[in-house]
Amino acid sequence: MALIVQKYGGTSVGSTERIAAVADKIIATRSQGHDLVVVVSAMSGETNRLVELAKSFGDPPHAREFDVLLATGEQVTISLLSMALQARGCPARSYTGAQVQILTDSVHNKARILEINDKNIHADLKRGTVVVVAGFQGIDCDGNITTLGRGGSDTSAVALAAALEADECQIYTDVDGVYTTDPRVVPEARRLDQICFEEMLEMASLGSKVLQIRSVEFASKFNVPIRVLSSFKEGKGTLIAPEDNKMEKALISGIAFNRDESKLTLLGVPDQPGIAYNILGDIADANIEVDMIIQNIGADGTTDFTFTVHRNDYKKALDILHNKTKDLGIREIKGDNHIAKISLVGVGMRSHAGIASTMFKALADEGINIQMISTSEIKISVVIHEKYLELGVRALHTAFNLDKETKD
Ligand code: ADP
Ligand code: ASP
Ligand code: MG
Repeated sequence: MALIVQKYGGTSVGSTERIAAVADKIIATRSQGHDLVVVVSAMSGETNRLVELAKSFGDPPHAREFDVLLATGEQVTISLLSMALQARGCPARSYTGAQVQILTDSVHNKARILEINDKNIHADLKRGTVVVVAGFQGIDCDGNITTLGRGGSDTSAVALAAALEADECQIYTDVDGVYTTDPRVVPEARRLDQICFEEMLEMASLGSKVLQIRSVEFASKFNVPIRVLSSFKEGKGTLIAPEDNKMEKALISGIAFNRDESKLTLLGVPDQPGIAYNILGDIADANIEVDMIIQNIGADGTTDFTFTVHRNDYKKALDILHNKTKDLGIREIKGDNHIAKISLVGVGMRSHAGIASTMFKALADEGINIQMISTSEIKISVVIHEKYLELGVRALHTAFNLDKETKD
């Protein structure tokens, strides 16, 4: 007998028919003798609808009230799923994040889980009850409702699995595993049987939204194996687990991409100590996260400086820089919010040279210009014009032999 935490995403609970199908799946797992804690998302489209509703009275909406509103999405699903289970004769009990006591910090809209009180859950499991928990939400120490950021139900599930020391955390979604890249963009993408925490963390943080980054951080920190599975199709999915030395390491495990960034360039910046601090200090003070940074070699006492920020922060960052032009003696500021980032990820990169040149050649062969490059031990990222994103991802997928074998 095992303790399993299952999470069902928005599409998997998108209608009452689908909720009924999820209830049948839960009952099938339970009949194998397992204890079950089930985490659910809001029905598909619901969180987006609530986000739009909230904008009716000001954008951005008041952070505390926004969380009160957003958390209702998941509350609908926990009650419906519990009703469906009970209607099938399966004892079930729903809990909001606050009722469990998923304690978070007070950063509304992107709160972090601090502690989970598992007393109620254990008592229910002992009685043979299926525990149904609302994902994406918690409560802070002052009793305010908080949410964990988009995609946050993944993190609720993994955090619960860690707190309960579950045997496995199963994430049921609309794809049957983690693929070499988003299968919606590259139909030739291949499902991976296994991927290690480190690679999945890079994939998630570089744009693969199949799992929220924080869920992978949690899994890695507390050593919780995750299995990504389809709600609609049988299969063994993808296991996300610690790096396995017996595994043959693929050079590249996957390709991540994102269109969420924008680029800011400062030309003719005086080349003197403190200048980077002066520019980026104000950006950081405005709570804007900076991703890539490039500074050129100085010539004639000046240098050029480029960095990227989330597209939502583009205008704010540009305004801050414009206010500094005079003070710092910067010649010109250029902005571009039509960029995209493509990243190759793989622990196999550690022991292989020549990956960057294969990457650059594949992009050059398609006539794609690289605007920025950044590397780490297990990833290489490039920034290109967003109109070439799909073309670039497909070219790299083929160049690194990631395409599935096609039968003709
Ligand atoms: P859920 O609502 O179940 O949480 P999400 O939409 O958050 O589902 O995540 C599943 C989606 O992630 C897939 O439909 C797919 O388009 C996307 N995705 C992006 N990158 C990958 C990848 N490498 N492997 C699998 N799916 C991916
Ligand atoms: N419902 C939330 C969202 O759409 C959380 C989640 O589904 O993980 O982002
Ligand atoms: Mg998701």
